[in-house]
Amino acid sequence: MTSAQRFCPTCGAPTPEDPVDKRGRCRTCYLEEHELLQVPEDLTVDRCGSCGSLELDGEWTDIETGLAEQAIDLVADRVAVIESVDELEWEVKTDAIDDRTIEVTALFDLHLDGGWERRERTTRVTFEPTVCQRCSRIAGDDFGAIVQLRATDRTPDEAEISRAREVAASVLEDRVDAGDRDAFLTDVVERPEGVDLRLSTPRLGNQLATAIRRALGGTLDTSRTLVTTDGDGREVYRVTYTLRFGQFRRGDILTTDDGALLVEGGTEGVHVLDLSTGERRTVTASDLEAARVTTLADAEQVTVVSVLDDRAVQVIHPTSYEAVTVAYYGDIDLDQETVRAVEVQDQLYLLPDDV
Ligand SMILES: [Zn+2]
Ligand SMILES: [Zn+2]
Repeated sequence: MTSAQRFCPTCGAPTPEDPVDKRGRCRTCYLEEHELLQVPEDLTVDRCGSCGSLELDGEWTDIETGLAEQAIDLVADRVAVIESVDELEWEVKTDAIDDRTIEVTALFDLHLDGGWERRERTTRVTFEPTVCQRCSRIAGDDFGAIVQLRATDRTPDEAEISRAREVAASVLEDRVDAGDRDAFLTDVVERPEGVDLRLSTPRLGNQLATAIRRALGGTLDTSRTLVTTDGDGREVYRVTYTLRFGQFRRGDILTTDDGALLVEGGTEGVHVLDLSTGERRTVTASDLEAARVTTLADAEQVTVVSVLDDRAVQVIHPTSYEAVTVAYYGDIDLDQETVRAVEVQDQLYLLPDDV
């Protein structure tokens, strides 16, 4: 049994069994009354001239793509079709009108009621140049925290500063990757006593100072200063994190009355390896007041001649080329052709393999 053929009540054309129009009209008559597609003719978006971020729905958002792609995305977000469209395809091309205007022309194929309709629309997208909040704070050097890199009785050396900056950069990158636009560095200030990192917020300052301390040791002090009172009467503080690296660095070799000590680290006290006995201990900075410092950079390779017993070996002295007896304490693989040694106060000491 077949059902009776239906006809459009307006023009009399045959219609499908289940027409898209509730009133039973054919597609042509239906489309005369309904706009299939809505696409804005003009779109304007604020764009930061400094970092390229866009203000979307009231929020600054970092954008990775180029302007043409951004323009297409903006248009795509605003295309609206009526409910009866069950499939949509579009081809799009862009024309750059000038450095802030892109024209997006799209050819839409829309499927409804068993057939395809084609529409063409052009949208002019204007990127209004402005400055985002973050860039304006960076430009104004508006910072909420300072991380001061210092050292006890010396200035931090280049290796410490560059390691600290690496750690800072990686913490910042993590914040930015997590979408935190409030995390930024406004400036790096070099001072005779060290380096200051100026950061957007106390929270970020705390994160950086803690991460740098974890990597490099040192003691951390915090102080805060009232900067201003904000519009709601709240007090706004700038927080200073002073990270003071120890007097001695990992790899320093200290000469004391007791012989030579290799610094292995330490935040509270100094962890040392006694290069005469192989004993590890922690000493306080005051124990080391009279110490003289050599660094691992002065180490040289020496050739082992013979192993005398488990506490002494003979090696060729690196400058006199004579065989000399030096203390041995384990931690050193004597099967190697040469081992590292350092000379302090006319005495040669072997260094452990792992420094
Ligand atoms: Zn009709
Ligand atoms: Zn910006």
